[in-house]
Amino acid sequence: MAQLSDDCFAHGGRLMRVDEALALLAEKVGRVTESEEVALNQALGRILVEDVMARVAMPPQDNSAVDGYAIYFDDLEPFGETRLPLRGRAAAGHPMAELAERGHAVRIFTGAVMPNGPDTVMMQEDCQVEDGIVTIPPGISRGANRRHAGENFAAGNRVLAAGQRLRPQDLGQAAAAGRHELTVSEPLRVALFSTGDELVEPGEPLPAGSIYDSNRYTIQGLLAGLGCEVSDLGILRDQRQAMQMALAQAAVDHDLIVTSGGVSVGEEDHIKAAVEAHGALHAWRLAIKPGRPIALGQVARVPFVGLPGNPVAVMVTFLTIVRPMIYRMMGGSDLEAHRYKVRAAFDHKKKKDRREWLRARLVADGKGGWQAEKFPRQGAGILASLVESDGLVELPEDLTSLESGAMVDFLPYNEVIL
Ligand code: AMP
Ligand code: MG
Repeated sequence: MAQLSDDCFAHGGRLMRVDEALALLAEKVGRVTESEEVALNQALGRILVEDVMARVAMPPQDNSAVDGYAIYFDDLEPFGETRLPLRGRAAAGHPMAELAERGHAVRIFTGAVMPNGPDTVMMQEDCQVEDGIVTIPPGISRGANRRHAGENFAAGNRVLAAGQRLRPQDLGQAAAAGRHELTVSEPLRVALFSTGDELVEPGEPLPAGSIYDSNRYTIQGLLAGLGCEVSDLGILRDQRQAMQMALAQAAVDHDLIVTSGGVSVGEEDHIKAAVEAHGALHAWRLAIKPGRPIALGQVARVPFVGLPGNPVAVMVTFLTIVRPMIYRMMGGSDLEAHRYKVRAAFDHKKKKDRREWLRARLVADGKGGWQAEKFPRQGAGILASLVESDGLVELPEDLTSLESGAMVDFLPYNEVIL
């Protein structure tokens, strides 16, 4: 199903800046999924692939924002109390049929359609009622407490845009606009492997020289959070033949293949040869830390992403490269994650010309803002740094030296991980 040209991730092999990598992806990767209609209550988290137009105005008519009394503003005394006899009643779902006459007040409740005539609503808390007469204090402004037809949206307005990921409030908006189904992208079908002879499935005994496979669980969660349908295909051993067969098999019924490990240049790293047997693979040398080696290619025209093996590098490269790529493949356009300016509570030196991410925890700075405290062990293999932090401090390419107290960009995990 993927519409990739042959060898579309070719790149000269130079060190590539993040912006350059993202621009290349934007150019090469487009939507590959089909559309489907789903009921509103099944649409949460899905990528909307149609513009949603309102079938009705919301609200359809002017109505009251409060419980109280609907009146003609021009009946009010400008500087003193006004006494008006009560006549008529309007409740939500029960509009008043008769005309509301000048010189009277209509009992009205929140959400009730405004009776014909009155332009203003007095809150009941501000009035006194005795023997069918409402006493109204001066000082209200014309049109107060009246909601206008179409103030949320008018009929025909675009209320949701194609490409956005559906949040609870978006579903409410679609319902308010008269829709009960939405056209969304089918989930991207992603095949997921780990690679490495040292990896053992959690729950099994751990022989000397082995570690438990953790990346697959991290990546599986990241993919599920993006709304992908994940096939967890287990651990591939560092054997070219076996890898080659597993990859070819996975390419049959998936839209994307993701692996971790085996993409550096060690002689035990067989992924490159295994992928190349069925397509092409390009090592992208990203100018980033952590996570430099990431491989992009295709297996029989199905896009392939080989993430690094180190757990922190996995997270950073996934969020930087794979997340926007997956959104694009599902027709999403809502790619940019907000960074927030916070104060660094640490000094840091870095190399020029590469982007660096540090794991940090946010702590109140006592002055109404937040400061970022760097996790002490920043190694690419230290999964604990991800667990014990709230997000990533993103240091730009140009920076070489950061001093405590400077403002930095902070990317909270909850901006990008669902
Ligand atoms: P590699 O890129 O295969 O050389 O792996 C780099 C580092 O990441 C090595 O220390 C691996 O043991 C580790 N690693 C690779 N895959 C995984 C995994 N699935 N879970 C945890 N650690 C891994
Ligand atoms: Mg390995």
